[in-house]
Amino acid sequence: MTDQRQTRIVATLGPATDPPGVLHELLRAGMNVARINFSHGQREDHERRIAALRAAANDVGCDVAVLADLAGPKVRVRGFRDGPVTLKTGQRFCIDASLGEHDGTAEAVGTDYAELAQDVQPGDRLLLNDGLIQLRVIEVRGDAVHCEVEAGGELSDHKGINKQGGGLSAGALTAKDREDIPTAAALEVDYLAVSFVRRALDIELTRELLRGAGGHGRIVAKIERSEAVAALDSIVEAADAVMVARGDLGVEIGDAELPGVQKRIIAAAREMNRPCITATQMMESMIEHPVPTRAEVLDVANAVMDGTDAVMLSAETSVGAYPVRVVETVARICLGAERYPVTERSAAQVDRHFERTDEAIAMAAMYLARHGRIGAAVALTDSGHTALLLSRLLHGIPIYAMTEHARTRRRLALMRGVTAVNFDRGARPYERVAHDALALLRERGLLAKGMRVLVTKGDQPGSGRTNTLLLMDVS
Ligand code: PGA
Ligand code: MN
Repeated sequence: MTDQRQTRIVATLGPATDPPGVLHELLRAGMNVARINFSHGQREDHERRIAALRAAANDVGCDVAVLADLAGPKVRVRGFRDGPVTLKTGQRFCIDASLGEHDGTAEAVGTDYAELAQDVQPGDRLLLNDGLIQLRVIEVRGDAVHCEVEAGGELSDHKGINKQGGGLSAGALTAKDREDIPTAAALEVDYLAVSFVRRALDIELTRELLRGAGGHGRIVAKIERSEAVAALDSIVEAADAVMVARGDLGVEIGDAELPGVQKRIIAAAREMNRPCITATQMMESMIEHPVPTRAEVLDVANAVMDGTDAVMLSAETSVGAYPVRVVETVARICLGAERYPVTERSAAQVDRHFERTDEAIAMAAMYLARHGRIGAAVALTDSGHTALLLSRLLHGIPIYAMTEHARTRRRLALMRGVTAVNFDRGARPYERVAHDALALLRERGLLAKGMRVLVTKGDQPGSGRTNTLLLMDVS
């Protein structure tokens, strides 16, 4: 039987994935979702990459989702007069919004974020370049934020600024994001990620703008601000999917908090039936090296054991030296980690009350799967919702989502344990649907004769509302 890996792989496209044939290899190696980062490149680059990806997926014969990632209000320093500077621990350094694009020196640098001086006070800690450089605010005078360097290092043009503990007041959607949303709609992306989300409203606004522009993509909330951790439940509820954006998040909340918060975010997403992506620096050393460190192997494996749906690669694939090899490596590590159980849901789940019929069916499926020998679950679905519910509740059992809707199949590419299969229910006599679905899966080598499987479906043709659970033996 074919690849049984359950965890999904999100890989960022970029210059390193542009050479002919690389996308085909990435798909064969196990890329399920391709990320387009709107922080880099122009609309033409995004168009070209998505067109090449869709052509490659067509050649390889797989469903790949496209996730576009809005840049968001990343606060950055401006440029330096004579190239990078080195800040020494103990020296004074000033960030001053009144300095121009090329005015930076070893004593001071500009920033586009005019409100910085209003958002900080003496004693606050600012972190530059993903936390590699630490500053302590000493004094604020007009636009100038005077700091002492607590941990020095090299600082170059346009590196990010984070405030430890959060509190920079920039709104989630920038003018650029508002221009990029119609682009995402036109490119028919399957997912749109919102950076630096502060509250549920940011998600709702993005969804409104995307729908207004004719886009059908689902909204991913990137959790990367302290404020977002505090408002986690309402943000997860508002979003269609969640990303643990560990790069900025780790800087804002501090490295000691990060592992616990990662687990909390993944658990909250699962609990609320949302898929979750764990992102950033998962295979960082493979940007330059052909093998990962032990720490990276353990990090990917731990995210899998935490129950993440997907792990994400950023620079590792977009600009790295080994884009295909890193996907192969991650796929292998996921497969190995999946042999060990995910922390199970609390017993409270079992006592839960259900409003929705499809949730009740999914719970009944979980009960059967736990107490009988079940080889797979097959969901005959239009929207993919039942497949998502099943993937929250069934651990380690493959879920086949059968649908003729290509959009649904692509969207399901993010969900752990779900394999989407093209299957047109409408074209056959209703009584034969479940039987034919199993026959197709058997033909593909996904099911074997004698296997006992669960099948969910609606009892009305084309209704799209799942209300039936069947227990069937593959013949
Ligand atoms: P980014 O988001 O790569 O867009 O910054 C992910 C993160 O912050 O971890
Ligand atoms: Mn980020």
